[in-house]
Amino acid sequence: MPMQGHGHATNALRIANARVPLCLLEGEFADLGEGLALVDIEVADGAIAAVTAVGTKSKPQDIALIDQDGGQVWPGLVNLHTHLDKGHIRPRAENPDGTFGAALEAARADRRARWSPEDVRARFEFGLRCALAHGTVAIRTHLDSLPPQERITWPLFCELRAAWAGRIDIQGVALVTPDEIRAPFGEALADLVAESGGILGCVTWMVPDLDAVLDRLFALAAEHGLDLDLHVDESLDPGARSLRRIAEAALRNRFEGKVLCGHCCSLSVQPPEEASATLELVREAGIAMVGLPMCNLYLQDRAPGRTPRRRGATLLHEIAARGIAVALASDNCRDPFFAYGDHDVLEVFREAVRISHLDRPVGAWPAAVTRTPAGIMGLQERGRIVPGVPADLVLFRDRVWSELLSRPQADRVVLRAGRPIDRALPGYRELDGLS
Ligand SMILES: [Zn+2]
Repeated sequence: MPMQGHGHATNALRIANARVPLCLLEGEFADLGEGLALVDIEVADGAIAAVTAVGTKSKPQDIALIDQDGGQVWPGLVNLHTHLDKGHIRPRAENPDGTFGAALEAARADRRARWSPEDVRARFEFGLRCALAHGTVAIRTHLDSLPPQERITWPLFCELRAAWAGRIDIQGVALVTPDEIRAPFGEALADLVAESGGILGCVTWMVPDLDAVLDRLFALAAEHGLDLDLHVDESLDPGARSLRRIAEAALRNRFEGKVLCGHCCSLSVQPPEEASATLELVREAGIAMVGLPMCNLYLQDRAPGRTPRRRGATLLHEIAARGIAVALASDNCRDPFFAYGDHDVLEVFREAVRISHLDRPVGAWPAAVTRTPAGIMGLQERGRIVPGVPADLVLFRDRVWSELLSRPQADRVVLRAGRPIDRALPGYRELDGLS
């Protein structure tokens, strides 16, 4: 694996004339326009030593220089919601009509037939290698944990998390349905997740006993000291209101752990006053949210031979305006739920800006793929460009948003501990043996 810089000091480096989103800096910097500041970044021993307004400190003679000439620099990217265990099954797990129901069926059949440790490992690591090459430093992945898969995937997950430490910080979430939470299995699963240092999760929809399921889920999490990460209301049914019930359950149970809710597509089709009341409860309960727009576009409002009208992206502006922590993430990659994707968080950001009009102004939205998910994951050294954090940076040639968001940024430079890594992507032919 082409990684340098860990375990030995790197030479001092100045990254000069870099545009950095103001929301990822700390201290007073002038806004050049578009929420961007022009700074010089000093790197020493693999960490950021100083961040100063451009030209305010002269460069010592003996240090290396990268002149960004106004190009943007971001901290390492953070992907808060993925499915690395499902990734890249698309060539063998056909979704015949592209709908959500067919995706569930295709993924279930593939899991039952093929998800051996070797199979999951090969696809999981392929995803990590793509993510690393694009500049990712931290990933949270959901892990299908319906029996007997949990006994295969969780030990493998623990092994890969250790093997990738120092390259990508990985967190795992147990993904099950209300059926597994209700059953005695729920207790065993919570034990396994706690032993494995994971997070407890569930898909929620309007099952008749939803409040009882949620009370059991919150009790299992509290008893085991676990945070929660849920797939919530991933549909365009305005009657899908489990987000509100989760907020009420968090308040009713006085839950002290963190709660993250993903998707929440149905908010986009509910009356504004109803969505607003739900978001007020979400804020009160201290719940964070993550939008997954690329996967929503693929699955929502799909019917054969008919052009989609409603696109399923959740209410990002309204969520942010209420002061709720909101991140953006990729969700699935080359599987029956989303046939495309390359584990590139910058692609997610670019698409989200276009889909949800996050550009008048872009403002603090770069934090949604860096600083905010790092905070939700409890990774204090990630997501910001400040003194003392590792010099794990993504350098772009392009300067302003109309440049950065117009191209895929395939020529970006990824620094880890201040040194460039090999950005070659693994080839899909590597996966041919798995089909
Ligand atoms: Zn998901």
